[in-house]
Amino acid sequence: MAGVDVVPEAMVVEHDGLRCLEQRGDGACVALDPVTKLCTIYENRPRVCREFDRGGELCVQVLERMARRAAMV
Ligand code: SF4
Repeated sequence: MAGVDVVPEAMVVEHDGLRCLEQRGDGACVALDPVTKLCTIYENRPRVCREFDRGGELCVQVLERMARRAAMV
């Protein structure tokens, strides 16, 4: 069906009524292979992932926040 994300149900959790991909303890998406760093559901990744502007403003903000968080550990 157009417009509906089809991801494995086992990877989905619900937060405040929103369905989201589960995260690992380090905050990484459960669909991200920790060894290869590749998306394991790439062909069926959700729309938000398809539309995310890699290297865009939001991407840079997230990377900076992650770097700050890692520096505090
Ligand atoms: S592209 Fe989306 S589904 Fe795939 S690993 Fe990244 S965040 Fe997860």
